[in-house]
This record gives sequence, structure tokens and C-alpha cells, in this order.
Amino acid sequence: MATLVYVEEPGDLTQQTLALARSLGGPLYAFTAGDTVAVSGVEMVHHADADAFRSYAPAALARALVELVEAHKPAAVVAAGTPRGNEVLARVAAIKDLPFAANCTAFESGRPGSVTRTRWGGSLLEEARVHAETLLLTVQPHSVQGEPASGEPAPVEHFSPSLRDEDLVVTVRERVGSSAGGVTLADAKVVVSCGRGAGSPEGFGIIEELAGLLGGAVGCSRAVTMAGWRPHTDQVGQTGTKIAPDVYIACGISGATQHMAGCKGAKTILAINTDPEAPILASADYAVIGDLHEVVPAISAELRKERTG
Ligand code: FAD
Repeated sequence: MATLVYVEEPGDLTQQTLALARSLGGPLYAFTAGDTVAVSGVEMVHHADADAFRSYAPAALARALVELVEAHKPAAVVAAGTPRGNEVLARVAAIKDLPFAANCTAFESGRPGSVTRTRWGGSLLEEARVHAETLLLTVQPHSVQGEPASGEPAPVEHFSPSLRDEDLVVTVRERVGSSAGGVTLADAKVVVSCGRGAGSPEGFGIIEELAGLLGGAVGCSRAVTMAGWRPHTDQVGQTGTKIAPDVYIACGISGATQHMAGCKGAKTILAINTDPEAPILASADYAVIGDLHEVVPAISAELRKERTG
């Protein structure tokens, strides 16, 4: 039985999603909309054409997916476990009255299907059976190795889904640039993050400086976004961005499970904290016990010295 994969955009997460979708067996088909058209490693791409898809319109995407599900009756629909992938599939589940398993790290087809999925911000893995005619699944980002994008892009079949007025109520009208400058938080190889320990919005000056020197992006904890010190786009965690940089420098962050859910894919974690008992130290590869307002400028000064000397 075929699997339909919703491809938001080309990239690592798509390769990871295709790799896990392949474990279901059977041929893979892709659903795309808007600017994303070319996908390799699948039999065919179903591309939805409509003005609505120039911008992100989750209900319209769900409606188009439902149309494909009803026409082609795939055994499963799979998407990346991004905020958008999860939102669109949740809407498909609501329209079709089907169960939806989000953020899976493994799954098997069958009646019932079986899934392993992350729960409680990634602090436990749950094995579950899913009784459904069509499995609706998203793939936990960075939980599997992506398959390399190779071969010619698959042939594309265009279709125009029948959209209703209510499908266009929620849509992105405007975009504001992220404070990460040229490097996005999700893609940065180095992320310098700060929590309540920053003390104020101005406390992020030294964090931005270090991130700039390392060619990285700035992140933060939810305590910071809740205080209004940084925009939500900078938040790392269960309800923020999930990242997997080479290096994660966590300054003045206690390491709550909801925060760690967003950064546990980091290859190396350096924690800077005044508290030698802070929970983040259990996950950190390296730690500096000290005041971030002293330690961070000292690291930046060393980097500058290294580069000029
Ligand atoms: P705190 O827990 O207050 O820790 C501050 C740390 O800074 C402490 O360890 C302290 O020792 C240290 N410190 C203080 N001053 C200094 C200094 N001068 N130098 C060095 N260290 C210093 N949180 C997230 O981050 N991301 C999420 O996505 C997220 N989602 C959530 C979802 C739900 C449903 C819930 C309930 C919570 C969520 N949270 C999330 C909140 C989370 O539980 C924590 O409250 C939050 O992560 C704490 O932020 P913090 O570490 O900055 O602050």
C-alpha cells in the first residue's frame, strides 16, 4: 500500500521524513504546494495549484491532502514533525475523524499500525497501536538519519483542490525577519542561547556578540520569551524550535525538560551556569560554573584575540 508524504520544503527534515516513511514499505508519493515542487526518491509528486498556497494556509493544505487521500486511499500520510507538519496533519485528522500520532521515531504498517512516539517533551518514548484506515503520522525531527537526496526529481502531477472559504481564514499575511540575522535558529551549526540568567533584554548583547563571532544564531528559553525579552522565534524547546546544532552554548538556562526537548539533538552542549546543581549539567558535555556576564565576554575576548593575533 502506498504512503503519501507531505513535503513542506526540500532539506534535512524532508530527507528524514522520507527515510522513515520508507520503513512502512510500499511506494512513496509526495504532496507539495506553493514553491516546493521538485522531490526525488518518490514515484510521483502531487502538486496543489492555487493562489492560497503562495502563503502558508494550513486548512487549505489539509483540504488538498484530504482530497488526495480520498482519491488515492494511501495506507499512511506522513509529514515532518515541524509545527506546520503537525498542524496540517492535525487538521486532516479532524476533517477525516482519524487518530493522529505526532512526533514518531519509528512506525510499522499493519492493522493496527504500531508507532513509537515521543511524549512529554521528549522525556519518554511511548509505543502505541493505531487503529485507522489511514495512518496519520509525523516524524520527530532529528530522530532518524535522512536518506540522501539523489536521482532525478519525480514526475509532477498538478491538481487544483476544491477549497472552501473557511479554508482560507488562517493564512500568513506578513513575515518579519528573525533576530538571528542571516543564520536561522533551526539550521545554525552553533547556537548561543540564554535564559532567565540574562537578567534583562540588554543582557542579550553579550550573547549576540558571541553568536556573531561564532557565525551562529541566538536562542533563548521560554522564561525569556514569556518576559518579552526576545521574540518567540528565538525560543528553543518543546513549544519553540527543535534544533540539532554541532554546538549548543546554554547560558543561564536551568535545563527544564521542556527546554531540553528542543536541544537534545545538539552534538555538544556547553552550559554556563552559576548553579553547580542546575539540571542542565546532567546533559552538558562541558560546563563552566560561573556568572555568564563574566564568562561570555571572556570567551568573546579570547576569540577576538585568537583571530587578531
Ligand atoms: P530558570 O529555570 O529560572 O533558570 C535560570 C538559570 O539561570 C538557573 O539555572 C540559574 O542558576 C541560572 N543563572 C541565573 N543567573 C545566572 C548568571 N548570572 N550566570 C549564569 N547562570 C545564571 N521552556 C523552554 O525553554 N522552552 C520551551 O519550549 C518550553 N515549553 C514549555 C511548555 C510547557 C507546557 C511548560 C509547562 C513549560 C515550558 N517551558 C519551556 C518552561 C520550562 O519549564 C522552564 O520554566 C524554562 O525553560 C525555564 O527557563 P530558564 O532556564 O531560562 O529559567
